Amino acid sequence: MSDDDDGDDSGEGERRVARRDAAVRAAVAQGLLGPGTPVLALLDVTGIRESAAALRTAFAAVTAPGTPVLHAFAVKACPLVPVLRLLRDEGIGAEVASPGELALARAAGVPAERTVLDSPAKTPEELREALALGVAVNADSAQELDRLDGLLRSTRTVSPLGVRVNPQVGGGSIEALSTATATSKFGVALRDEGAREWLVRACLDRPWLTRLHVHTGSQGIAPARMAEGVAAVYALAEEINGRAGRRQVDTVDIGGGLPVNFASEPTTPTCREYARALRAAVPGLFGGRYGLVTEFGRSLLAKHGTVVARVEYTKSAGGRPVAVTHAGVQVATRTVYAPDAWPLRIAAYDGAGRPKEGPPVVQDVAGPACFAGDLLATGRALPRLGQGDYAAALDTGAYYFAQHYAYNSLARPGVFGFGPAPDGGVGFAVVREAQSVAEIVAEAGGGHANALVLPEPG
Ligand SMILES: *Cc1c(COP(=O)(O)O)cnc(C)c1O
Repeated sequence: MSDDDDGDDSGEGERRVARRDAAVRAAVAQGLLGPGTPVLALLDVTGIRESAAALRTAFAAVTAPGTPVLHAFAVKACPLVPVLRLLRDEGIGAEVASPGELALARAAGVPAERTVLDSPAKTPEELREALALGVAVNADSAQELDRLDGLLRSTRTVSPLGVRVNPQVGGGSIEALSTATATSKFGVALRDEGAREWLVRACLDRPWLTRLHVHTGSQGIAPARMAEGVAAVYALAEEINGRAGRRQVDTVDIGGGLPVNFASEPTTPTCREYARALRAAVPGLFGGRYGLVTEFGRSLLAKHGTVVARVEYTKSAGGRPVAVTHAGVQVATRTVYAPDAWPLRIAAYDGAGRPKEGPPVVQDVAGPACFAGDLLATGRALPRLGQGDYAAALDTGAYYFAQHYAYNSLARPGVFGFGPAPDGGVGFAVVREAQSVAEIVAEAGGGHANALVLPEPG
């Protein structure tokens, strides 16, 4: 395949903007968004389907025919059942890391054989459930392998079992998301003294260990660094299989972590570029001797989510205009607490949901929470937002509104999927209802109001 006939992403960004603009306009026109519902989250169903298809195509293009490839979506990136069902429909499984995430995947109908359990703190009960269901499990530590030894004495399972390796290839620009540093808490540290030999023996002693898993980190890690991590684990698989004299390790789980471009509209890097870079760096992994598992999260969803918030008031402080909106720390927690690491693009819409025109004015876009740092954007040049306009936080489909943060008891906003309606307009589907005030009270112990003031027993 030549580089110019592969349908690269030309026009992809423009089409996404057009869909998003039409959806914001329709959300206002259809009354989903307005003075009484001043914030909501939108998911672009067309875009999600396109990203899922692009991922499948990218790996199909670099693997030998017949190579088993399971793309397991990292549920933590967007833990919403209808999203998992949509992805299932696109041939994507689920990577889960808690009993809650496993339950979400099952509620979405993701089959056990397309589910992978990774977590650094699995309890015996979680392991037992996974083995009973036949979900793939990647052990995170020596102690977890011992625990599996014990469980497997009394349990038969079809679960493929693996071990997570930390290749210790180094971190990226965001410390908290760098999983392959020398001292990362994840996996078995490959370069520690004696660790490689220990890992090889651990596998040779356990013929049921058939997978190696690596996840070199998320946003902020260069794809080349990720490829180094995959190469290190591939070399280990080859060594284990060489010493076993058979193909004991039959699958390499390469994790996720493809970074997202939050600075502009185009999808860069693309999964096609990453898949090609991986094949160039580790050709042996793609020759058909190994099955592959991937665990992409952010890169599948980020570009397809938008938080839209009404501007309740505007003011000026110290000469700078401030638009006070209904989207802040509760839906954009990372951006508010670590604005330099997680800047978000903001789009301005007028009160009818049309893209706002006008000369750029440097302004702050603030959230509703009661602390000074609750800002979606600081000193941003945008058409001047006015009362009743809307500010949209772009690229928030992963790790933003899906991870609501209950500061100030602000309600979880409703999440709506959108796509073309039969009448040619935009149709919406409820993905998650907005949280009601009654639910907030109930979740805050409303049913136990007297718990702390009852007379002492006896
Ligand atoms: C978070 C995580 C992923 C997904 O990372 P993204 O950056 O969202 O692609 C995949 N695998 C594991 C083990 C993870 O912890």
